[in-house]
Amino acid sequence: MKARAFSYVRPRTVAEALSAFAGTDGDASYIAGGQSLVPALALRLQAPDRLIDIAHIEALRGVSLTGDRLRIGALTRHAELLTDPLILRHAPLLSEAAPYIAHPAIRNRGTIGGSVALADPASELPAMMLATSAEIEISGPDGVRLVPADDYFQDLYQTALEPGELLTAILVPPVGPDERWAFDELARRRGDYALVGAGVQATLVDGTIARLRIAFLSVGATPVRVHQAEAALTGAPLDATSIARAQAALDADLDPTDDAQVPAVTRRHLARVLLGRLLGRLARPA
Ligand SMILES: Cc1cc2nc3c(=O)[nH]c(=O)nc-3n(C[C@H](O)[C@H](O)[C@H](O)COP(=O)(O)OP(=O)(O)OC[C@H]3O[C@@H](n4cnc5c(N)ncnc54)[C@H](O)[C@@H]3O)c2cc1C
Repeated sequence: MKARAFSYVRPRTVAEALSAFAGTDGDASYIAGGQSLVPALALRLQAPDRLIDIAHIEALRGVSLTGDRLRIGALTRHAELLTDPLILRHAPLLSEAAPYIAHPAIRNRGTIGGSVALADPASELPAMMLATSAEIEISGPDGVRLVPADDYFQDLYQTALEPGELLTAILVPPVGPDERWAFDELARRRGDYALVGAGVQATLVDGTIARLRIAFLSVGATPVRVHQAEAALTGAPLDATSIARAQAALDADLDPTDDAQVPAVTRRHLARVLLGRLLGRLARPA
């Protein structure tokens, strides 16, 4: 099938992009890497009147350390998460998750902004926004606002982005000296969307967990932060007892549904296995 006819504009600034959207009756789509949107157009799952190609907006590029945040421009490609020295150093969980996103050809085009704007619950980066305490920078007709990841993901493919708003950057607090992190996922084949995936970022002081965030993907309509499991570990030494307690707490945190791929009971089991693996990895000496 072919995409329906659409008009195409290529703004050079955020203001031009916003006004290109405002000049429509709302039936427009921004396009960044096109790795999700182009297949959706071809299948006519989406058929906007206008495509606004944001790929040439310089202000959406680049990675920089600004004050106490690492600022990752929306157009940063998945492949760059693997190589950018600032991301490797200050937001290493994103680098650790990036190889699990699809295949190299898709990672070379897909962008962090596109992934977080789309908010597919099976995608790696939306969940990693929760694990890293990221804030989402959003530009709209009324200016710029920052939304904590905890408030950003609202329902299936629904986020705090209002129609016409542009995700301009991701802001991440740089990891501290006592911080550890780990990402892993279980998939039928490497490169497939995960059956279950998770990222953990923790501050360990003298073997005790002072602070941690654990976020799962592919377990529900949104990425999920597992508060009960986090509470079971916070203030405790990272040992077999606390790990087992956190695995048991997952039952209260997760509410997956049966689907064509996996029954809910299997997904719960996979989540427990995965959490055990990740925490076991954190427990090993750095
Ligand atoms: C075969 C295949 C396998 C894949 N496997 C995976 C996988 O395992 N894991 C994974 O995470 N992803 C996977 N993807 C998706 C891929 O990672 C996409 O690149 C990503 O989800 C979207 O990024 P993009 O830049 O291509 O966005 P686009 O496709 O250009 O846009 C996606 C959506 O986001 C909106 N959008 C884009 N940028 C912005 C912005 N800055 N502000 C507001 N709205 C915006 C668009 O309007 C559109 O609705 C796969 C894709 C394919 C084709």
